[in-house]
Amino acid sequence: MSDASAYPVDETNRVKRLHERGSYDRATVHAILDAAALCHVAYVVDGRPYCTPTLFWREGETLYWHGSSASRMLRNQSEGEPACVTVSHLDGLVLARSGFHHSVDYRSVMAFGHARIVTGDEKLRALAAMVDRFYPGRWASLRPATQQEIKAARVIGMAIEQASAKVRDKGIVDDEEDYALPIWAERIPVHNVLGAPEPCPRLVAGVERPAGLAGFREGRTLEDALREAHAAMRP
Ligand SMILES: Cc1cc2nc3c(=O)[nH]c(=O)nc-3n(C[C@H](O)[C@H](O)[C@H](O)COP(=O)(O)OP(=O)(O)OC[C@H]3O[C@@H](n4cnc5c(N)ncnc54)[C@H](O)[C@@H]3O)c2cc1C
Repeated sequence: MSDASAYPVDETNRVKRLHERGSYDRATVHAILDAAALCHVAYVVDGRPYCTPTLFWREGETLYWHGSSASRMLRNQSEGEPACVTVSHLDGLVLARSGFHHSVDYRSVMAFGHARIVTGDEKLRALAAMVDRFYPGRWASLRPATQQEIKAARVIGMAIEQASAKVRDKGIVDDEEDYALPIWAERIPVHNVLGAPEPCPRLVAGVERPAGLAGFREGRTLEDALREAHAAMRP
């Protein structure tokens, strides 16, 4: 019986190596996606693989990314081409007592689907969501997009057909006999932390930083800010 809370699994997305780290649970996959701003989109053109880093955002089961209409990546993702979107978070450096057990803690997702060009009202909505996903409510406060700008942008959508998450979060794991060795071992947490915002030097006098940007403050992790922004975007 299929489980609606998980993605279907077959040879495409079944985690084989260290499969105990794998998950197909939609909530787990979404949480890893929503904590990221960047993804890598992999696709094949004339038998050659390309893997392009780009901003992305999620709405339900659809991932969106955008770029120039002239971009090769976007031109080649227009005809229902198969694509694989990956996201990864490096959470910790793991220094064990042997080279073999040096590792990293991480969370990652591989999502599979077919890319399609987003047009019409969905494109306008997606372009607004691209801003609001990061900075909720900001689109409405901006100078409206011109027809030329809208034309120059291409938006790609990909319904997630299958996905897998893989998580390592166990720090140091050495062979039992190695714990007695006089060798230093440690885990170094890794965080992507925001710096102090730098207001544009050409701001018009009296323009204040919008209250909605309060989540983006110095010292906070990027993923906390993104997660909060994503939750605020939900209807
Ligand atoms: C930051 C980071 C660092 C890593 N460093 C190493 C390393 O140094 N050495 C190493 O061997 N591995 C590392 N990994 C794990 C690596 O991504 C692969 O999971 C692993 O190498 C197995 O690859 P495979 O092609 O044999 O996967 P298989 O298990 O054969 O892949 C089958 C399917 O499993 C799923 N899958 C596999 N890997 C992932 C993943 N990472 N996230 C989500 N789904 C996945 C996909 O759906 C894939 O199609 C790292 C991962 C991250 C995120």
